[in-house]
Amino acid sequence: DADHAMYCTKQQGRQGYTVFNHQLRINQADQLALESELRRALEVDDQLQPYFQPFIDANSGELVGFESLVRWQHPLRGLISPALFLPMAEESGLITRVDRYMINAACRQLRRWLDEARVSPDIALHINLSSANFHDPELVAWMRDIIDSYQLPAAILHLEITESALIDVPDIAATVMHALHDLGVKLALDDFGTGYSALSYLHRYRFDVLKIDQSFVFDVDRKEEAFAIVRAILALAQALGLDVVAEGVETAAQLARLQEMGCGKLQGYYFAAPAPADAIDWERLARFVQ
Ligand code: C2E
Ligand code: CA
Ligand code: CA
Ligand code: CA
Repeated sequence: DADHAMYCTKQQGRQGYTVFNHQLRINQADQLALESELRRALEVDDQLQPYFQPFIDANSGELVGFESLVRWQHPLRGLISPALFLPMAEESGLITRVDRYMINAACRQLRRWLDEARVSPDIALHINLSSANFHDPELVAWMRDIIDSYQLPAAILHLEITESALIDVPDIAATVMHALHDLGVKLALDDFGTGYSALSYLHRYRFDVLKIDQSFVFDVDRKEEAFAIVRAILALAQALGLDVVAEGVETAAQLARLQEMGCGKLQGYYFAAPAPADAIDWERLARFVQ
């Protein structure tokens, strides 16, 4: 029954976290419990963790970046997927704290990698940012402090924003995005093509990177429509001088097709699933260099 939705967690998903039975709705009491547990998680040190998923240069096979993705290692419930707790975090207003926590954790890890010469200062670190952050007048100053305190080249940091994040707050978003650009931070438009006014966002805001949504990549090698859409996105990006990352690359056939089409950067299970920093297989990443 619904009371058990949060607890019937018998299967391990592809990414190692529990797959909840979507038939069951999470009831309100559970929602409230989860919310207070998230508040607690934000105060302790080891429950919210960045997992990192690499992107690869489609031509050279070189590692060119990582995306940080939040995971909640709950002491009792196990590893909880963002799909399960981010909606609650958005409703409760905790999302901006989650995002700041993640920016800090990902930047701290990046600092370590730079110190260990694990990664080049030319890579990109992509961090997801929800729309609620646009209402936070302190965000830009806070970002500047993070960049200063970890002594990071600002241009490594790429904030990923989805189209839907821009719907509610067009003017505030423009102001904040402009200020972030002034810091030297880059902006990526996530899930490109899935919102309903993708092109108007490109017109209205200055992005540096487009991320082609995985729904198009999924069929790129076997459906004419998906192929045509990806081709059009690549042409558009080229015309606008934007970098492109195709996400959700899972097969050699998708990889070959995207390479042929001249897509710059690739991300997906084919290369590596998201993993905690200490579980990244650096040797495997190095092997993609052709
Ligand atoms: P997203 O930003 O579009 O991230 C891509 C999702 O696809 C991730 O799911 C990733 O693990 C998954 N993925 C990666 N490669 C493949 C592949 O080859 N095939 C398939 N089918 N999936 C792949 P994840 O990690 O569960 O994250 C879900 C969403 O939660 C993200 O979608 C993002 O919108 C949001 N999110 C994650 N971390 C954060 C965060 O720190 N802050 C905010 N605001 N949102 C976050
Ligand atoms: Ca993303
Ligand atoms: Ca995406
Ligand atoms: Ca997505």
